[in-house]
Amino acid sequence: GQNNAPDYLRGLNPEQRLAVETTEGPVLVLAGAGTGKTRVLTTRIAHILATGRAFPSQILAVTFTNKAAREMKQRIGILIGEGNVEGMPWLGTFHSIGVKLLRRHAELAGLRSDFTILDTDDVVRLIKQLIQAEGLDDKRWPAKQFAQMIDGWKNKGQGPADIAEGDARSFANGKGRELYKAYQERLQTLNACDFGDLLCHPIRIFRANPDVLKDYHRRFKYILVDEYQDTNTAQYMWLRLLAQRPEGKPISPLEGEMSGRTERGASRRQAGGTAPSSVASGDISPTTGEIGRSSTEARTTVNICCVGDDDQSIYGWRGAEVDNILRFDKDFPGATIIRLERNYRSTAHILGAASHLIAYNEGRFGKTLFTDRNDPEDGKVNVHAAWDSEEEARAIGETIEAYQRQKHNLNDMAILVRASFQMRAFEDRFITLGLNYRVIGGPRFYERMEIRDALAFFRVVANSTDDLAFERIVNVPKRGLGEATIRQIHDTARSLRIPMLEAAGTLAESDELKPKPRAALREVAANFERWQKALETTPHTELAETILEESGYTDMWKNDRSAEAPGRLENLKELIRSMEEYESLRSFLEHVALVMDAEQNAGLDAVSIMTLHSAKGLEFETVFLPGWEEGLFPHQRALDEGGRSGLEEERRLAYVGLTRAKKNLHIWFVSNRLIHGLWQSTIPSRFLEELPEAHVEVAEAGNSYGGYGNPYGGGSFASGRGGGQGAGRQNPYGASRFDNIGANSGGGEKSGAFSNTYSTPGWQRAQANRTEAT
Ligand code: ATP
Ligand code: MG
Repeated sequence: GQNNAPDYLRGLNPEQRLAVETTEGPVLVLAGAGTGKTRVLTTRIAHILATGRAFPSQILAVTFTNKAAREMKQRIGILIGEGNVEGMPWLGTFHSIGVKLLRRHAELAGLRSDFTILDTDDVVRLIKQLIQAEGLDDKRWPAKQFAQMIDGWKNKGQGPADIAEGDARSFANGKGRELYKAYQERLQTLNACDFGDLLCHPIRIFRANPDVLKDYHRRFKYILVDEYQDTNTAQYMWLRLLAQRPEGKPISPLEGEMSGRTERGASRRQAGGTAPSSVASGDISPTTGEIGRSSTEARTTVNICCVGDDDQSIYGWRGAEVDNILRFDKDFPGATIIRLERNYRSTAHILGAASHLIAYNEGRFGKTLFTDRNDPEDGKVNVHAAWDSEEEARAIGETIEAYQRQKHNLNDMAILVRASFQMRAFEDRFITLGLNYRVIGGPRFYERMEIRDALAFFRVVANSTDDLAFERIVNVPKRGLGEATIRQIHDTARSLRIPMLEAAGTLAESDELKPKPRAALREVAANFERWQKALETTPHTELAETILEESGYTDMWKNDRSAEAPGRLENLKELIRSMEEYESLRSFLEHVALVMDAEQNAGLDAVSIMTLHSAKGLEFETVFLPGWEEGLFPHQRALDEGGRSGLEEERRLAYVGLTRAKKNLHIWFVSNRLIHGLWQSTIPSRFLEELPEAHVEVAEAGNSYGGYGNPYGGGSFASGRGGGQGAGRQNPYGASRFDNIGANSGGGEKSGAFSNTYSTPGWQRAQANRTEAT
């Protein structure tokens, strides 16, 4: 009974316990956010080890991030006592486990075990060489685009021989397949592989070498996978190869099955209607007896346990296939499917809001979630309005400080943004306030490549002796200035004791260089001379824009078809916009230098700033979700490219965001945001409307924030920052759109509740809620 259970099992609910103790056979835990899926996985590993079912090295556990893997290792250690684990399971991301496998069997993939892993830049450079070697025009057929295509193929586990005619034909006049093949051959000569190969090579090795695969079948007694809803096809193939035992019932060849898979949208809808074979929390499959407990023979079924939530599938744009989770019981016949319905993370209000929102998606399995938490002190989900992103950052900063005064740790607070450019306003604000923050899962705003490039241009304009900055951008975008030319500039600068920019100008007028680099340098020198003159006469933001345009830098990213390019352009616009607040280019650059110097605050008490995508699986006491406006969230790109399914993926992202919060949740939208370089008055996100009245509190009108006011109503902001271009414009959807929530706010007769609200600090809100609840 419960009382004799080992420590690590106590406190689990019956379904969780079932998921932990059903060690044999395939198990799927399909459950909503915060129901303890990850905790089940961790406890399951502890259980397997503590009961002697396997040695650590016989366990393979896949997490979505390296950070999650580290945390899981730590937790397992705590659960069963550090001293009790000898060695550690194979625990990591698909990629990190892939590297480990590939190092062991490199020769089977035609590599040496000391192969190098290429990053995206290397890959693009390599492909460009191949495109040129084929005599193709690399402007018409950009290397970045082809790198993207290869990545897509590899996500599907497709080698050059597997790709469909049409797919290959769409690039380089039908030469796509040849190029792909040449690329793989080139990698082999270089003793290198790309990220996709870390999965694809092991798949190929397993297929071609049954003995090797059999060794792993013997080795891995237990396989566990977290966030299964975001596995892509290659990861799925990889897992199935490891989980598919030849002794078992014959499973039709993988390849045949892959091609027969239904289209994502179609099968999602289907899945919504049909229940899996054994969905019931208490329904134990016949495979869960004592089978194989001490047996060393190969088993016919694999002990694979996958956990996930179809509602949190947010990587479709990168090739993830939510179908993998929806068809688990077909892939692994006799699977035990366990549903967890009790949420341990969030308050009833947060859970209620999230559940209501996600119900707007059509293609879903559907699930109920409940919580026992019923604390009258728990506040509702707060929705706040701000004039623009600066005010949003300022108000959130104040709310954080208010929480801090109430003895909340900064570590327990997070700001989750939809797009990375949103981070800039918060970083700037927090630096000003002296509030510690850390950016998780990516460089900080001013450390991004495109921002550093842009700043380098500005620095040279502001200070022509800034050689470091000059060197960074002298050949950006590419002007055919090779290393030799740059060395010549260096030498000239040193011998004449002049800055590099001046040396470049000198060289451009001499005959020491070949005509092409000479012309390029002449242009560079002329550009900077012109910009430096303009510095005295042109407003600095305008000049900054001109610099990026005339240098060809903006166009470089416009012509770039990689997935990151649009985000980089957004960041550049945000950079220019942020300059408005400074008097001059110099004072702006000074500010940046200070920001850059700020510590990343590792180990300190600090607010986390990250994208919604990288927040998956995490939880925080207090969560801020800024930028809930149409076009930003849901993101226009997702709507344009993905249509209805794009919108549904955005909504799942919103669900992920909402369910990260344990206790306090603050959602913000602004009335004016810089979109495509223009100030535009924005429309509150449709997701706001999808939040249920009963669980949401729209921050009421009040004058607690002297400076912030009604964005639409009065004219007080008409002459505010940004020239007030959006001021006075009405929400095109009119009042009715928010009527359901408006009833809650006590305001908004004229132009809708959201557009008529003031922001109120969180602590005041909490007080108001308290009064209300008692
Ligand atoms: P997500 O879908 O967001 O990844 P999850 O299902 O993996 O969520 P966990 O992160 O494992 O959920 O758990 C959510 C929180 O609930 C954690 O703080 C965890 O420690 C806690 N929790 C889970 N199960 C229990 C339990 N039986 N008793 C008390 N707390 C629990
Ligand atoms: Mg989890």
